[in-house]
Amino acid sequence: MKINSTNPFDGAVIQSYTPYSAALVDGIISDMHTAWDAWREVSFAEKSTLLHKTAQILRARKSALAMLMSIEMGKPLKSGITEIEKCAECCEFYAINAEDLLKQELVSTDARKSYVTFEPIGVVLAIMPWNFPFWQVIRFLAPTLMAGNCGVLKHASNVFGCALEIENIIKEAGFPDNVFRTLLIPGSEVERVIENEFIAAVTLTGSTAAGKKVAQKAGSLIKKTVLELGGSDAYIVLEDADLELAAETCVNSRMINSGQSCIAAKRFIVAEPILDQFTDLFVRKMASKIMGDPADEKTDIGPQARTDLRDQLHEQVKASISKGAICLLGGFIPEGNNAFYPPTVLTNVAKGMPAYDEELFGPVAAIISAKNENQAIQIANDSIYGLGAAIFSRNIERAEKIAATQLQAGSCFVNALVKSDSRLPFGGIKQSGYGRELSNYGIKEFVNIKTVYIG
Ligand code: NDP
Repeated sequence: MKINSTNPFDGAVIQSYTPYSAALVDGIISDMHTAWDAWREVSFAEKSTLLHKTAQILRARKSALAMLMSIEMGKPLKSGITEIEKCAECCEFYAINAEDLLKQELVSTDARKSYVTFEPIGVVLAIMPWNFPFWQVIRFLAPTLMAGNCGVLKHASNVFGCALEIENIIKEAGFPDNVFRTLLIPGSEVERVIENEFIAAVTLTGSTAAGKKVAQKAGSLIKKTVLELGGSDAYIVLEDADLELAAETCVNSRMINSGQSCIAAKRFIVAEPILDQFTDLFVRKMASKIMGDPADEKTDIGPQARTDLRDQLHEQVKASISKGAICLLGGFIPEGNNAFYPPTVLTNVAKGMPAYDEELFGPVAAIISAKNENQAIQIANDSIYGLGAAIFSRNIERAEKIAATQLQAGSCFVNALVKSDSRLPFGGIKQSGYGRELSNYGIKEFVNIKTVYIG
C-alpha cells in the first residue's frame, strides 16, 4: 500500500510513496554497518568540516525547506525558517565542540594510567515525529555523527518528503555513502528494524504510546533507548508576576508550532487574586493570533498537521467542557477540507478532565486556579508527564527556588518560555521519557563509556 503525503491546508495529496520492502531495509542497514567500519575512524576535524558544510546548505535552502514543511505538515513559513536556522546552529555547535565534549577523561587510581574514553557503538535508529521535521532529526543526527556513529531515520509517515531532503543534504555536504539513510516505512514495520542485528540503539521522539512499544521491543533485545515523549507543561503565574510578560510568554509558548509542541505550555496555573486579570489578558492575546495559509507571512497559526489529530484534540475539548470546563474562545472545527483548529481557551479546568489529565497537542489552553503557591506546585506536579515547566514571579529568588527544587520536570524556566538549546540538556522524567538530547549529555547517550586501565 502507498503512503500518501497530504497537505493539511487543503487536503490535496502532494506525493505518494511506495514503502521500502523488508529486503531493501535490511540491505540499507547492512550497508550502513559496513560504512560504520570506516566512519568510526574518521577524524573530528574531517567530521567537523562536513557538519559545517551541512549548516551552510541548510541556511542556503531555508526558504525552500520551510515551504516543504509547510505543505507537508502545515507549519507557517516564518516558523519553518526559524527551525532551519536552529538546525544550522546545532550542526555548528557539535562541529565546534564535539571533540572537546568527547575527550578522554583521566582518572587517578592505583593504575599506572586509567581513563575514560567514549567510543562509537554503531548504527543508531531514530524514530521521529512530524512536528519539527528537520529539528527533531538534526538534533539527533549532529551529535550522533560526530560521535562516530551512523544514523538511520524512520520519519513520520506524513513528512517523508522532509526525510528524503535530509538524506540529500547530508549526501551533498560530502558525508560518505550510508552513514545516514532514511527508511520510508510505516510505524508498523519498526519492530522488525529494531530486531536487526546491526541496529545498536534506538531513539524515539513521539507519543508515550509509541515510546512504550519501542522501549519494550528494544529492552527485550537489551538495546538502549532514549525517549522524548509527550508533555503537559505547567506554567505557574504567581500573584506577584509581571502579568503582561507572563500572559505574552504563556500565549507564545502555547502557540509554538500551532500548538503542536511537546514543550508548549499546556496548563496555566494561576494564583486566585490575579486569575481574572490574567485570563482577560491571555484571552485577548490568544484571539489576536492570525490563523490562515501557512505560506502567508502574516500567519501565526497554520492548520494542524493531520485531520485525525485535529479531531482527537476537539474530542478532548468537548469532553472537558462536558465535565465543567468553560470555553472562553474557540472550541469548534471550522468548515472546509482542511485541518484547522482555532486558538481555544478553557477555564474552570479541574482534575478528571482531559484538559487537566492529558496532553492537548494543539492550540488549546487550560487555565486552572490555585489558592496559593503550595497548591500551584501540587497541581503542576499532578501529571503523568514531566517534560518542562515555567514559573512567573517578580521575586526571582522565590521563583528560582521553586524551579530548581519543587517542580518535577526535565527543564524548569523562570519568567521565560521553555525552549531547547544545543548547549543545554533536553528531556523529561515520568512518562515524558528518559535520557537526554543536546549538550554534552546528549552526545554521550550513544557511546560506549569505556574504562581503560594500564596496570
Ligand atoms: P506517534 O508517536 O504515533 O508518531 C511518532 C513516530 O513514531 C512516527 O515516526 C511514527 O510513525 C512512529 N510510530 C508510531 N507507532 C509506532 C510503533 N508502534 N512502533 C514504532 N514507531 C511507531 O505520534 P502521532 O503522529 O500519531 O501523534 C499522536 C500524539 O503523539 C500527538 O497528539 C502528541 O500527543 C504526541 N506527539 C508528541 C511529539 C513530541 O514531540 N514529543 C511529536 C508528535 C506527536 P508513523 O508516522 O509511520 O506512524
